[in-house]
Amino acid sequence: MTRRLGIELLLVGMVLAGGALLLSPRPVAAEKGQIAAAAPSLPKPLRKSRSVGFAWRGKLERGVLLKPNAQLRYVSEYAKTEHFYGTWQLVQLLERAAFQVSQRVPGSRLSVGELSAAQGGNLPGHASHESGRDVDVGFFMLDGAARPMEAFAFAQFDARGRGLAPNVGLRFDVRRNWELVSRLVTDGEARVQYVFVAPAIRQLLLDEGKRVRAPTTVLERAARVMVRPSEKHLHGNHFHVRIYCAPGERPKCQDAPPYWPWYPGAASERAQNKPG
Ligand SMILES: [Zn+2]
Repeated sequence: MTRRLGIELLLVGMVLAGGALLLSPRPVAAEKGQIAAAAPSLPKPLRKSRSVGFAWRGKLERGVLLKPNAQLRYVSEYAKTEHFYGTWQLVQLLERAAFQVSQRVPGSRLSVGELSAAQGGNLPGHASHESGRDVDVGFFMLDGAARPMEAFAFAQFDARGRGLAPNVGLRFDVRRNWELVSRLVTDGEARVQYVFVAPAIRQLLLDEGKRVRAPTTVLERAARVMVRPSEKHLHGNHFHVRIYCAPGERPKCQDAPPYWPWYPGAASERAQNKPG
């Protein structure tokens, strides 16, 4: 009898623990041992950020500062801008992706350009980046001896992945860049709407995905998520990543189509998020 009671108490305890896990917005990926090591702790409730409005007309409340670490650096050109604030979902997406690429290729550091200002709003030189859900990410690159290298600024590459002036001799590191994109589109927490990038770079990456026999679902996601931006510049020298509003940020946070079908609730979000 006592033993049975003990087992029942144990079961209740497990259910309670399970409930706590369900309530916690911890990334799915963080449940796996090796990723948990680098998965950042979630911000305390009062620090919980909120993206307000659209990516191109909005603001950021309680923005979270993305900090450099062993796997992630600020692109030097932007290091002094203090535009490294995002929603916690975006910040942690970058931390996870950086960690995962570094697991594949030790020593790798993700080169991050601007996110948003501490409170969002207009960011000079950008059409969006207003509500903490956009980030510019530099390409992984190789030097003339095929060694990973990091540049002071974003570097432009041609359709064959060769560096353009003043970066002649550099190569677009298709292996690590594909690894990055595949991680972004399969993240267990943040929902990536776009990876804006030039068409030629997109093609290099999709070719690499096929070469390494990436799962069809990952290839399909990458093919749809990587799009040519409508902005003036072609993003031939960096990725521009945008995530959707997190479910808890709505309805103050607003998205516009497309809504990718692999995110739960995508269809109902469409109705909920009509501008105006
Ligand atoms: Zn951008």
